[in-house]
Amino acid sequence: MMAMAVCLVAAAAAAQEQWPVHDRNRPLPPVVTPGPAGPPVAPPSDAIVLFDGKGLGQWADAKGQPAKWKVENGYMEIVPKTGGIRTIKGFGDCQLHVEWMAPSPARGTDQDRGNSGVFLMDLYEVQVLDCYGSSTYADGMTAAIYGQYPPLVNACRPPGEWQTYDIVFHRPRFDKNGQVLAPARMTVFHNGLLVHDCDVLTGPTAHKARPPYKMHADKLPLSLQDHDHPVRYRNIWLRELE
Ligand code: MG
Repeated sequence: MMAMAVCLVAAAAAAQEQWPVHDRNRPLPPVVTPGPAGPPVAPPSDAIVLFDGKGLGQWADAKGQPAKWKVENGYMEIVPKTGGIRTIKGFGDCQLHVEWMAPSPARGTDQDRGNSGVFLMDLYEVQVLDCYGSSTYADGMTAAIYGQYPPLVNACRPPGEWQTYDIVFHRPRFDKNGQVLAPARMTVFHNGLLVHDCDVLTGPTAHKARPPYKMHADKLPLSLQDHDHPVRYRNIWLRELE
């Protein structure tokens, strides 16, 4: 069992290292049309509801002040330049459900089009971007583990429609000296389609870099990125797995 786990880690790392960060020659995944958007997916009984459409009481800005994003009609909307927001509580291993919507009509191209991001532990980003009929570098497209892994498919819905991410996240493990005992892993579904199948992260996600792991706490806030675009979020819930 241990041998198999090591094997999977090695294979994943090898697959990833073939491509420099943000390489525009890296192939884009096929476009697959997901099923139609539905109503919010109701949280199960053991979920921690982080946003139910009514307020941002469980969130703060980077300085710990009340989050300044707009809440209306059951969703929150990024107010550009107010900065990212993060949960007051910290989390480690988890199952996370997030619903988001890219601005409609779409504006901009490439990375400048409906950009935001879901950061597990404030360090590991699943990209939020509008790649419906729009492209960018593969490891920065919608549902990419930013700078590391493109999604297996482009499952985008059009801007103005609700989309879902379902993420299974295992945090990295460190020994007491900060050596990595086990890297972080992610499995992700975008609009119900598998886009990451237990991908092994090389370290925190970053722009134009793949930094190594740095020892951190077992629980850290979940954060959402302000990338200057009025992306909306609704119905965010999480199940702790530890
Ligand atoms: Mg982003």
